[in-house]
Amino acid sequence: MANLPILQFEEQIVETVDRNPVVVIIGETGSGKSTQLSQILHRRGYTKSGIIGVTQPRRVAAVSVARRVAQELGVHLGDEVGYAIRFEDRTSERTHIKYLTDGVLLRESLSNPELSQYSVIILDEAHERSLNTDILLGLMKRLVRMRASNLKVLITSATLDGEKVSNFFSNCPILSVPGKLYPVEILYSNERPTSYLEASLKAALDIHIREPEGDVLIFMTGQDDIEKLVSKLEDRVQSLEEGSCLDAIILPLHGSLPPEMQVRVFSPPPPNCRRFIVATNIAETSLTVDGVVYVIDSGYVKQRQYNPSTGMYSLDVVQISKVQANQRAGRAGRTRPGKCYRLYPSILYNDDFLDVTVPEIQRSSLAGSVLYLKSLDLSDMDILKFEFLDPPSSESLEDALKQLYLIDAIDENGLITSIGRVMAELPLEPSLSRTLMEANECGCLFQALTVAAMLSAETTLLPGRSKSTEKKRKHSHLDLPDGSGWGDHIQLLQIFEEWDRTNYDIGWCKDHNLQVRGMLFVKDVRKQLSQIMQKIAKGSLDVRANGRWNEGEQDYRNLRKALCIGYANQLAERMVHHNGYRTLGFKPQVVQVHPSSVLKPDDEGKLPEYVVYHELIATSRPYLRNVCAVEIHWVMPILNKVKKINVNKLSGGTDLAVEGTEGNLSDLPKKEVNIAGVPDDHK
Ligand code: ADP
Repeated sequence: MANLPILQFEEQIVETVDRNPVVVIIGETGSGKSTQLSQILHRRGYTKSGIIGVTQPRRVAAVSVARRVAQELGVHLGDEVGYAIRFEDRTSERTHIKYLTDGVLLRESLSNPELSQYSVIILDEAHERSLNTDILLGLMKRLVRMRASNLKVLITSATLDGEKVSNFFSNCPILSVPGKLYPVEILYSNERPTSYLEASLKAALDIHIREPEGDVLIFMTGQDDIEKLVSKLEDRVQSLEEGSCLDAIILPLHGSLPPEMQVRVFSPPPPNCRRFIVATNIAETSLTVDGVVYVIDSGYVKQRQYNPSTGMYSLDVVQISKVQANQRAGRAGRTRPGKCYRLYPSILYNDDFLDVTVPEIQRSSLAGSVLYLKSLDLSDMDILKFEFLDPPSSESLEDALKQLYLIDAIDENGLITSIGRVMAELPLEPSLSRTLMEANECGCLFQALTVAAMLSAETTLLPGRSKSTEKKRKHSHLDLPDGSGWGDHIQLLQIFEEWDRTNYDIGWCKDHNLQVRGMLFVKDVRKQLSQIMQKIAKGSLDVRANGRWNEGEQDYRNLRKALCIGYANQLAERMVHHNGYRTLGFKPQVVQVHPSSVLKPDDEGKLPEYVVYHELIATSRPYLRNVCAVEIHWVMPILNKVKKINVNKLSGGTDLAVEGTEGNLSDLPKKEVNIAGVPDDHK
């Protein structure tokens, strides 16, 4: 810790922060920005007038860095140093250094728009350009105008986009902390391998056999790849002749790893041992693993992209940007000269890689962010006047406004409704928030809370339900409930209710191959959501969270109706001649129900005529993930509403092109929306 580069600049940092409300700090990954800046400002008295809040785009990083800082200061995590991530708050009244995800800080600003408890806000890892950090940048701009005398904002980045951020904040000062980076030799492959997994395996073994000691960091794209490579590497390393190489430890590193497994990468290896760390891009800048001398870079990353015209998400393995490739290479030169094996040719890097990563705001659904900004109720903070570092496309904004209108969060003039206000307070995506509110009205909140909580952990809970694979869920031998023909949401509910009847027996989870940690998390999330609903209610809502499933109510009618209202923009109609579906969005898509779904054809071989879906995702082809059967007479009023949408009115008569520091993306002509998605007989 003592020799971290940032510590040599303590005086300069403190002096600049003393004199300026906003400071940009650029420093190589591992220079100490995340762990030291908060401690420096704490030592210099900045916690006397408030808390130092440090935002992180990733949950894992918030937890890991808070743990480290608590350790360095010799305090208990949750006392003077704590963290807050969605559904987990480890802070107390004594906390004066608080690590939190950018999403949590946005939420805090709803109940306290001035964020008055903070004396310093550090937006860490701004180079990641997460959607929430981008919104926070705009929010901070406003906040420093309001609280110039008692708020300091620091924006940190590992890459050199400081000028752009500085311009955004009226040319605020930029401090660069020179990193102590040793030279890294870059070795390119002659061509792209057919399998980057096999190529990574070969490169790793070559290093192990030929190169002197030093840890190896291998970038894979996701949990599936990581698990495969870890297992192959273990086999191959074991088969090497004893004594011919150093010992080896192989460690996975990704966001879904249990915390005790994550921290293993921070313990130094025993002598004569080489560690192989097989990681997602989490190790690119969020977590710094010491001791790495060799990096193997596949050149790929898994990225979630949203297409606003179809409402479809895809989880694509895409080429990284040059900035990312250089960050990855940099991991090899932290302690001594290193080597980076790029599994792609240099010509590809030079000619084909994008210079910088596309910010999340330009590849996400904006419904949640638009609702958030509308609920702030600040005339100068409306989405259409909001200042973005890089503006979203007018198509995404239009998509978000339509979604929000269909679920009653905004009215036909684009103004937030009372329903929208309550929705914004729930830490859930808008569709689920709306479902909870409707469920409360129909007296099935206790069920909807369970579904919402189960959905928040579902991909890790159920084997074969991962987003990226099309594996069939092998539920038959696990003897899990089957949704009684109504679909996946109902199955999730039934699973939890069955567990509830065993009085939360851990053995029951194990017998049914359900991840115990995941189920306990669901139980906790459910409790928290229920408390939040109670709190929000304050008389305006009739919260009936504590109920139990009534055996007589076998068709889950109310719950399915609530889901239909909440997911009004995610409806699909069965095709006439086969069991495919057509989405009822603005640009209908022909889709299939995901093979992992429990929804099965009835005795006549037919699937339900209408379903709502949680997600439309493209893997090898477009699939609906998590579907629930709904009734035609709930769907009709929604389709009628679709017909009435007028985007011009929804955007308050304002041009949908938004403010930004750079050129706006193309503006769509104002028009009455074409309701091509509505089947002819319903028009
Ligand atoms: P930056 O934010 O500039 O990337 P950090 O402050 O995250 O740098 O890291 C500084 C040092 O602290 C690194 O050497 C890193 O390995 C170490 N470190 C960070 N988090 C942990 C942790 N949870 N456990 C052990 N060491 C850590």
